[in-house]
Amino acid sequence: MAKHVLTLYNSLSRTEEPFKPLKKGKVSLYSCGPTVYNQAHLGNLRTYLFNDVLKRSLQYLGYTVTQVMNMTDVDDKTIKASQAQGIPLRALTRKYEDLFLADLTALNILHPTHITRATEYIPEMITLIETLIKKKYAYKAQDGIYFSIAKSKNYGKLANLDKQKKSQERIKGDEYDKQHAHDFALWKFHMPEDGDVVWPAAFGPGRPGWHIECSAMSMKLLGTSFDIHTGAIDLLFPHHTNEIAQSEAATGKKFVHYWLHGGFLTMKEGKMSKSLGNIHTLPELITQGYLPAHYRYLCLQTHYRSSLQFSFENLEAAKQAYERVKRKIIELKATTHKGADKTKDYQTQFTSTLQNDINIPAALQVFLKTLDDISFNSQKRLALLEHFDEVLGLEVKNMKEEKVTVPKAVQALVQAREEARATKQWAEADILRTRIKEAGFILTDTSQGPKVEKI
Ligand SMILES: [Zn+2]
Repeated sequence: MAKHVLTLYNSLSRTEEPFKPLKKGKVSLYSCGPTVYNQAHLGNLRTYLFNDVLKRSLQYLGYTVTQVMNMTDVDDKTIKASQAQGIPLRALTRKYEDLFLADLTALNILHPTHITRATEYIPEMITLIETLIKKKYAYKAQDGIYFSIAKSKNYGKLANLDKQKKSQERIKGDEYDKQHAHDFALWKFHMPEDGDVVWPAAFGPGRPGWHIECSAMSMKLLGTSFDIHTGAIDLLFPHHTNEIAQSEAATGKKFVHYWLHGGFLTMKEGKMSKSLGNIHTLPELITQGYLPAHYRYLCLQTHYRSSLQFSFENLEAAKQAYERVKRKIIELKATTHKGADKTKDYQTQFTSTLQNDINIPAALQVFLKTLDDISFNSQKRLALLEHFDEVLGLEVKNMKEEKVTVPKAVQALVQAREEARATKQWAEADILRTRIKEAGFILTDTSQGPKVEKI
C-alpha cells in the first residue's frame, strides 16, 4: 500500500506541499478572526467553516492542534461604529463578539483553543513596534509609526508582488507623510475623532494598526515561527503580506510555514460583501426556515479553495440533501443487519481525501457511499459514519426522529384559520396561514384536517 502523507496547498510557494509540522504530532494554527463591529455574513462564515474542517481533519489525522483566533476589537471600523451607535467601544465589540460566537456554535464550528482580543495584547504590540524602530524597519511620521517596506527583504513574496512596479504606484488620499506608498501604519497617533480610544506608548499615545495585531498575538501564543496561518483569500494582500514583513523583520525567523487561504462566497453579481449590499446572515436563513446545518452542508460540497456561488436554490438543494442523509441515518440506527465489515476499506478512502489538501467534497462522497452500502454491517457502518462525522460535523450522533410540539399560539392560529375557512373568509384564512409560516410552521390541509409541521 502506498504511504500517504498530508499535502496542503501553500499560498507562499503556490504549490501543494507535504505537510511537516515544526513539532512532531502537533500543529500550531492561527486563523484571522472577525472585526467585531457588525453581524458576520455568510461569506465571512464560510471562511470559519473552512478553518473548522481544516482543524477537524488535522485532528482526525492524529495531530494535536492548538488554534488561536483573534477578535479585532479596535480599528477604524469599530471606532466609527461605536460612535455612530453612541455606545463605548467595548460595549459594541462585546455585543458583536457574542453574536459571532453564537454563529460558530450554531454551525457546529469547534471553538478555537484561544480567542484573543486585540485590546488585551497592546503591550505585546508596543514591544514589537519598539523592536522594529530599534532595527530601523519602522519610522515615525506625523500621524503614526510606519513600517518601511523598502527595508524589508522579500516584501510581497506571498502575494507575488512586483516590488519595483508597486513602488511606483501612488495611493491618493491616504498618503500622509509616508516615505513610500505601501508603507503601512504600525501605530496610529491619537486623533480627536478617536475619542477615548487611546493607549500610552513611549513613541506617542495612540492605537495599533490592524496588521500588527495579528503578528503580536500569534507570536505571543504560538511562538515566533509556527505551522499554519489561515484566512480568506482577500487577506493575502496587504494583511498577510504585511504580517510576514513585520514579523520576520522583528525576529529574523521564518514567521509561518504554510499559508492557507479560503475562497470567496459569491453571488450572481460578484463577491458577497457589505460594500456591494448583497449580504445574507445566518439568523436571516433561520427565519426563512433553514437550519445552520443546511448552510454547513452547502459549504462542505465545495473545496475550500474554490469559490462557491450562493443562491437560495443551492441552499434548498443542500437542505434536501442534508435531510435525506438524516432520514437514512435515523433508519440505520433502527436497523440490525449483519453484513460484511468494510470499515478499513472506507476508512482508507476517507483518510486519503483529507490528505489530498483537505478535499472535503470527496470526503463527503465517501461518507455517502458508506451510508448507502447495504452490504456493510449496519452497526459497524454507523460507528464508522460517526467517526467520519468528527470531520464533517453533521451531528450524526444527535440525529433522531423529532417530535414536533406545536406551541399554543400556533395552535390558536390554526384554529382561527379553520373558523375563517368554515365561514368562507378566504383572505383572512390566507393571512393566518402566512402568520403560521412566520412562526416557523407549515400547514397542509388533509382529509383528516389541517396538518402542522415544523419548517
Ligand atoms: Zn489577521
